[in-house]
Amino acid sequence: MGLWGWLCGLFAGPVWGSARRSPQWGRVRAMVLDGATCSACGVDRGLEVHHIEPFHIRPDLELEPSNLIPLCERCHLVFGHLGCWRCHNPLVAMDAATHKGRVHEYRGAHHG
Ligand SMILES: [Zn+2]
Repeated sequence: MGLWGWLCGLFAGPVWGSARRSPQWGRVRAMVLDGATCSACGVDRGLEVHHIEPFHIRPDLELEPSNLIPLCERCHLVFGHLGCWRCHNPLVAMDAATHKGRVHEYRGAHHG
């Protein structure tokens, strides 16, 4: 099938999202989520760990703390993946921080 077919097979289909994860991932993930809140909206429930450099592109950064950011399920899709699981947002950390600042500023004004 050639290299191209192999690459397509790698990035599409059932392999997506189920790529081989390090045995350390569970521990690192738990560490990132320990006491965490969503980096974009600040909720403390339904949190997921997002890879800033996607796992399928930089598997070597899978366990790198500076490449990980806690996001709730909703913000994970919106900020981490720009609304599409096949996309990724290289500026997720900045966007999340900007949004969080906004949430604090405006929600704080209304709810104390
Ligand atoms: Zn959120």
